[in-house]
Amino acid sequence: MRNITRIRNLQRISAGLKRQGRKIALVPTMGALHRGHLSLVTKAQKLADTTIVSIYVNPKQFGEGEDHERYPRQLSADRAKLKKLGVNILFAPDDAEMYPGGYSTFVEVEGVTSKLEGVHRPGHFRGVTTIVMKLLQAASPDLAVFGQKDAQQALVIKKMVSELNVPVKIVVAPTVREDSGLAMSSRNQYLNEEQKERATCIYRGLRLGGQMVIEGETDPARVVESITDIIENTPGTRIDYVSVNDANSLDDLDNIGGRALISAAVWLDGVRLIDNIVCAPGRRRKKHRHD
Ligand code: AMP
Repeated sequence: MRNITRIRNLQRISAGLKRQGRKIALVPTMGALHRGHLSLVTKAQKLADTTIVSIYVNPKQFGEGEDHERYPRQLSADRAKLKKLGVNILFAPDDAEMYPGGYSTFVEVEGVTSKLEGVHRPGHFRGVTTIVMKLLQAASPDLAVFGQKDAQQALVIKKMVSELNVPVKIVVAPTVREDSGLAMSSRNQYLNEEQKERATCIYRGLRLGGQMVIEGETDPARVVESITDIIENTPGTRIDYVSVNDANSLDDLDNIGGRALISAAVWLDGVRLIDNIVCAPGRRRKKHRHD
């Protein structure tokens, strides 16, 4: 595995690979890699000849008072995991490489970023779209793989590359969960076993909501209410939002008629967790690990 830290080196390598006709996949991450990340890597390897994984804890997507400083950084353990999987290139730049002094250019997607996470994390998506655009410029991949765990992020990035005519295919891979149902997340490292057990209320709530829709409930408010009950009955929780939206546009729904994204952001003992499922009336959801 090649370890690259400079953008211009990655650009040179990527151009060389392209000349050889190799298909390149990029998997952007913030590190502290878990099985969710690794599933994206495996997907990328199936779809491309060369897989580049980036690890960069992007300061511009963290708001004031959020966990940027505390965010887990485990580069040598991450490197070992990626090497074991046979990843070709690890791109792990530092802040000075990504945002040199006087940095002033940002990418902003309007509309879809003002809902859900956008309401509670102002500026978050501006940071995400800026760094993803920079990573795409650095790696020039044919495809980039993102997780359904961050459903809104995947939609925002799809919109960005479409509207800015970036020649890359965005692939979205299913959410990987613990056996308990808890969605894997680097932030789960902030939780002990007992807290992780309580955190399963989020997925339990979402599943119940999905079940209601499958069984014919069309009123989003009733679905939200049932999920909220489950989460609020769990000690130490505080809800940022529980929401039912159109799965493609994230539009608010008066009535659930087609594919709906049911999503939640919940604080558990001071740790913010997000999760979601996609469901449709009368359509049975796929198994547990494949939302
Ligand atoms: P992060 O390191 O949290 O920025 O995540 C990097 C990528 O991994 C994003 O595309 C996430 O959506 C994806 N990801 C994070 N957790 C999971 C998970 N449990 N299952 C699948 N993908 C995930």
